[in-house]
Amino acid sequence: MQLTQNNLLRNIPPVDRLLEEPAVANLILQTSRPFVVSLLRKVLNSLRQSLSSGIAQDSDTASFTASILEALQSEFERWTTPALRKVINCTGVLLHTNFGRAPLGRRALEHLASVAGNYSNLEFDLDRGTRGRRDVFADRLLKELLSCEQAVVVNNCAAALFLALNTLAEGAEVLISRGELIEIGDSFRIPDILRKSGAVLKEVGTTNKTRLSDYAEAVTERTRLILRVHPSNFRIVGFSSRPALEELIQFACEKPIPLVEDLGSGCLMDLQSFGIDDEPDPRASLKSGVPLVCFSGDKLLGGPQAGILAGEADLVQKIRRNPLFRALRVDKLTLSVLESTLISYLKQREAEDIPLGQMLHAPSARIGQRAQAIASQLTLPGSAELRIIDGQSMIGGGCTPDRGIPTRLLALSDRDLSPSRMEARLRSGAPPVLSRLENNCLLLDLRTVFPEDDGLVLEALRRLFTTP
Ligand SMILES: *Cc1c(COP(=O)(O)O)cnc(C)c1O
Repeated sequence: MQLTQNNLLRNIPPVDRLLEEPAVANLILQTSRPFVVSLLRKVLNSLRQSLSSGIAQDSDTASFTASILEALQSEFERWTTPALRKVINCTGVLLHTNFGRAPLGRRALEHLASVAGNYSNLEFDLDRGTRGRRDVFADRLLKELLSCEQAVVVNNCAAALFLALNTLAEGAEVLISRGELIEIGDSFRIPDILRKSGAVLKEVGTTNKTRLSDYAEAVTERTRLILRVHPSNFRIVGFSSRPALEELIQFACEKPIPLVEDLGSGCLMDLQSFGIDDEPDPRASLKSGVPLVCFSGDKLLGGPQAGILAGEADLVQKIRRNPLFRALRVDKLTLSVLESTLISYLKQREAEDIPLGQMLHAPSARIGQRAQAIASQLTLPGSAELRIIDGQSMIGGGCTPDRGIPTRLLALSDRDLSPSRMEARLRSGAPPVLSRLENNCLLLDLRTVFPEDDGLVLEALRRLFTTP
């Protein structure tokens, strides 16, 4: 056994010989010799490993060479095509953190290309011909849209909250209800962020009930801030309550202690027509008198990853002057997309320009027609059954976890191919198609698919039964 293996290993061509192969020379021309040599070594190592575990098929030098070249070619392609790529989201979850949250619209992307693909006035005042500030672009629109005194933009909502806490409460106590000490996902925990900001967490009330009197009892001379957090992806139902926002605002105002509200999603779209009324609107919070709010740019706003801080001028200015602001500031890519997104809101074109708005507003009947069009062009094996059924799309991204939007779903089942096998095959296709499983069926929701991609979904479904 040992002997045969050694013989086999001897039949593997050496790197130098392989480098003379025309196919390899071609790869070197496209990249560099050291890179191709490093790929070749990887391929040879894995071949030796499979030989020693007895799973390699080849035996003579010629067939070794052929399979090495094949493996090298696919390894080369894996390295020279971006691994971060488009997927087709048929899950019906509009804001999926795993899928990059909000997709961006054509207008925003055109503006991005024009700003980022050229020089720009990012920090240049064109009127005066002097150095300018990058803050002005989004802030001007945010002030108008939110009716607030000032606003700043940082990397994401976690950074916004961190910066607010660090600026306003470093070394001092922050009151927060035990019912709001939540984890947002991907181990972003409010208590951890708070601790890292240098603030001292002072828990108030209980998990299910927090009264205004609990806040009153917790206040000391070390209290510098009250934090209110939108519970986002989580609901306590039944015996639970927290003070109304207005009560807490009045309490904070009388003390006076600044109140900061972490809204998470910060929705400027009208969701009432979808029966969703518990998504926090920053305009409403600010109007009620919350001095400072923060929210995400890529959740229900439908824009780029960003964290927006908005509220009273003195608080925002303090935050703006914190040296950490420089470390958490956004680049021209984010600013250009955010500015374009906010202009769409100003023009009340969010349902037209912003993909999230388009998808939210697509009538269920229209989604059903698109599903029907796909179904009618598909020839399936006799073992398969394809139906179009009622279902629910979900907003996701930590929003409104207990309510969906009515939709129509393609529901596919097959006697020979299990739904999880179908899901895996669609996922490994090019482009990957992501679906969900329910009641032993594969479900596809076209609400989260751009209509121009319906053809790609059709092709992926066709391949489902033809690939072995
Ligand atoms: C999502 C969320 C965050 C984090 O937002 P990012 O923009 O992802 O950093 C913070 N707070 C709340 C309440 C959230 O829902």
